[in-house]
Amino acid sequence: MKRLQSYVCGGWHPGQGEVATLVNPSTEEPLAEVALTGIDLASTLQFSAKHGGNALRQRTFAERGAMLAELARVMHSGREELIELAIANGGNTRSDAKFDIDGASFTLAHYAELGTQLGARTVLADGETTQIGRTARFSAQHIFSPRRGVAVHINAFNFPAWGLAEKAACALLAGMPVICKPATATALVAHRLVELFVESGALPNGALSLICGSARSLPGLLRGQDVLAFTGSSATAATLRASDGVVHHSVHLNVEADSLNAAVLGPDVSPDSETGRLFVADVVRDISQKTGQKCTAIRRVFIPADHADAFAEAIGEALDGLAIGDPKTGENVRMGPLATRQQLDNVRLGIARLADVTDELYGGSGELKHPEGGQPGIGFFVSPVVRLARDPASSVIHRDEVFGPVATVCPYDGNAETASNLVALGAGGLVASIYSDDRAFFKTMVSELAPHHGRLYLGSEKIAAQSPGPGTVLPSLLHGGPGRAGGGEELGGLQGVHLYQQCTAIQGDKSILASLLKQ
Ligand code: NAP
Repeated sequence: MKRLQSYVCGGWHPGQGEVATLVNPSTEEPLAEVALTGIDLASTLQFSAKHGGNALRQRTFAERGAMLAELARVMHSGREELIELAIANGGNTRSDAKFDIDGASFTLAHYAELGTQLGARTVLADGETTQIGRTARFSAQHIFSPRRGVAVHINAFNFPAWGLAEKAACALLAGMPVICKPATATALVAHRLVELFVESGALPNGALSLICGSARSLPGLLRGQDVLAFTGSSATAATLRASDGVVHHSVHLNVEADSLNAAVLGPDVSPDSETGRLFVADVVRDISQKTGQKCTAIRRVFIPADHADAFAEAIGEALDGLAIGDPKTGENVRMGPLATRQQLDNVRLGIARLADVTDELYGGSGELKHPEGGQPGIGFFVSPVVRLARDPASSVIHRDEVFGPVATVCPYDGNAETASNLVALGAGGLVASIYSDDRAFFKTMVSELAPHHGRLYLGSEKIAAQSPGPGTVLPSLLHGGPGRAGGGEELGGLQGVHLYQQCTAIQGDKSILASLLKQ
């Protein structure tokens, strides 16, 4: 069987010790294996900081941008192969796979363009020079320079391509070398992507390393010039927060974790309006796209009580047309399996917990006996499930993220204050979406919800025709959220690059300050 190797210290290494098997989640057929240990992580960090860091820092932003443009091009040329791997190892439909893979190359291209705009410089100024003496001669300037360590990226299983690319684009543009550790269960896409990048020769030696396997000791080896950017569960995030590097050496930690994203329908929206249709389409897309395994997917659906039946019916009707099965062999399959047996077990548990405090609206317990193109009893399939809250303030609904095609409808009284208080029970989210054509409703909702979220999406009639929905993360916009969502901040154009740079205040003669920033 194919063994996925790690790319470290300028070469491919098979690892050793205990082995994990990667399977096709539709058929449970083994696809590849990964040794969980056996990589010299300390040497990998040293090699990466020394060779990759030095080489990247010698390049200007424009040159690093050109490097990212080449990576985007390489990715695009390997697109069909990557899509096939995502279908096999992730249970993705072709459309799900494109969402991950095209999202990744789009993000690389975005940061490539930003590099071009930043031009032939290696140091970034933050804002204008400030006078701090009696005269303007004695001034100060904040600058950003790349941290001298390594950017360690630990990614979740659901976006193996985008997760790798969105983090790497920011770090490489900032001038920091990257060690990427994809989630083991779906590592085939990330592994092939790094193979393509290495084969292209676009990156200097040590600029990008790949660890296949568990790498549990890696966070403990990090020091103050390193950055640890993590995407995954709150439970793993808590372990990383307690790691030696973070506790004793102030390793800069960025966490993207769970989020019970809310969609709130305004009282002005009727089921047969453009905005009403947009709301239903967004909810249905987020339940089914990537089989609901999207950190930004809508989990809690707030509908004014007098419209709840009509909208719940429209959501159910849209889900009725959804063929679920093996994306490779099933006809017109629009939703594949969950990625792993563990995820299937977790989702079933989550549905059972919700069932204690909700009534059935659609899909029962999510059991799927006959997947299209699949075999009964084989694969990690679940059908979409929509529940109806008995009490919209019930803590289970706002606390337990069910990472699958599951959402809960919470009827409310149509009042913006009520809706925002209920949404805030989620204790911090990546994104909330609000659907209305009433500016007063938006005003209250935005002022109440903004402190609890990294992004707010305002769905209305005027944008309905051009919106990708709240679940799409754009490189120009902030990705992250407070509280339960991890407290992280990624992307957002230049802001995403600053995660990998140290900000320093420089005080001195204004002309000397100007000379430092001269290109
Ligand atoms: P996970 O179990 O926390 O695993 C995430 C990553 O952490 C994997 O690469 C895993 O490696 C690694 N890991 C686990 N324990 C570790 C440890 N002690 N030290 C170092 N690394 C460790 O999460 P998941 O099941 O892959 O992802 C699902 C969760 O991610 C969901 O809760 C979802 O909300 C969240 N998520 C959030 C975002 C966001 O942007 N906010 C995006 C996607 C997903 P192995 O695979 O080798 O165990």
